Amino acid sequence: MGHPRSLPMFPSRLDVACDVLASHARPGPRYTSYPPATQFRPSFAAAGAASELAAIRDGDDISLYAHIPFCSQLCWYCGCNVEATRDRSKGSRYVDVLLRELALVAGAMGGRPRVVDMSLGGGSPNFLEIGDLARLVDDVRRWFTIPRDAMLGIELDPRDTRPEQIDALAAIGFRRVSVGVQDFDEAVQTIIHRHQSADATRAVIERARARGFDSVNVDLVYGLPGQTPASVGRTLDEVVRLAPDRLAVFGYAHLPHLRPHQRLVERAAPVPDIPQRIELLRVVMDRLADAGYVRIGLDHFARPGDPLARASAEGRLGRNFQGYVVHATDRLIGIGASAISDSGHAYWQNHVDTEAWTQEVNAGRLPVVRGVALADDDELRRFVIMRLMCDGRLDFAEVEARFGIPFTDTFAAELTALAAEYAELAIVDRARGAIAATPLGHHLIRNIAAVFDRYAPSSGSPSI
Ligand code: SF4
Repeated sequence: MGHPRSLPMFPSRLDVACDVLASHARPGPRYTSYPPATQFRPSFAAAGAASELAAIRDGDDISLYAHIPFCSQLCWYCGCNVEATRDRSKGSRYVDVLLRELALVAGAMGGRPRVVDMSLGGGSPNFLEIGDLARLVDDVRRWFTIPRDAMLGIELDPRDTRPEQIDALAAIGFRRVSVGVQDFDEAVQTIIHRHQSADATRAVIERARARGFDSVNVDLVYGLPGQTPASVGRTLDEVVRLAPDRLAVFGYAHLPHLRPHQRLVERAAPVPDIPQRIELLRVVMDRLADAGYVRIGLDHFARPGDPLARASAEGRLGRNFQGYVVHATDRLIGIGASAISDSGHAYWQNHVDTEAWTQEVNAGRLPVVRGVALADDDELRRFVIMRLMCDGRLDFAEVEARFGIPFTDTFAAELTALAAEYAELAIVDRARGAIAATPLGHHLIRNIAAVFDRYAPSSGSPSI
């Protein structure tokens, strides 16, 4: 991480002509990891994960993520690993296995690390009964130290969250809540099969605030069938009235070959094309800028005084599978079906299928299905890509000091490519030893990052 400094923020408005942006849009990774998950291989499995975990020592800081793959009904746009069910007992049985996995993971580590950040995601973690949530956190405390200032966060689906759950979460120690909204327009909600009123959403947010939650985040999606600039504007007006501390705004990734249920959203209205996506995003950004939010990296927004906004301005932003985060530690340990871990030197993913994950855990094995150990070159390129994704710029001296390499020699081909083919997006200042995204390049930062990706990215979601 860099020292505290004042960085230019990502532009808060999309002040670029649609055809210019559209001409640069192309599929690619979102760089929540590098190498991207498409490079994870079955050859890196439980043994590789065990040796990475063994290197985590007493008192080391870790982030912990637990994946809860249940929702009480399926949203048709959903791109997550999720099972729709109303059988809450599945949640209890799932937590039984999760606690066994936690014991395996903790047992593989060399001591008692500190969990400085813990997130429950899914799916819908609120699918779990209060008692199951409590025994999960109790077991985390059993194996790890949770310092008093640790941040415990949870994703909530307002359609399925009871007031007493919020009270219980506060009592357990949760302080950050991420509330899924996506879109408040009734026609869009019918198309995506997700009916959620602004009143129900407001009730969850107000209850969380009243119970002392520090941070309320809201998730939105643009690019859904049926969305128009006018409908998205109305959704944003409603969202601004909810006054979240942060927002994550994701472009809808329509991948029906991977998620067949997504074909259902095409039945009533076509999936917006790239120019339409751009106009929808323009409305989102304008409304949030008008309301005083600043943009954090590619797709997050926050109030100027928010810790995420301060981290962004000071070059302390991190990026992992949860998106942009205040950088606390390089180690993210994921538990639960499909969860991904990052030791700083390797990534690994658990079995996606809940049954396969359960069988491995019950057999006493770390339930790892694939992963990748980072070569020195991967670690170097990851640093470059993550700083670009977080800061929109890169100082050669920072890379040289950290990795002991001559930047311009090591990345001669990339710098030539940037200057020749990406001059509209990035300025290469050899004299000052820096790459800086242009205002246009900030909106297309994934394209700039991809120049440093040696795995020749060509698949993923559109870059806008
Ligand atoms: S609530 Fe979220 S995870 Fe669950 S089905 Fe809907 S989009 Fe998917």
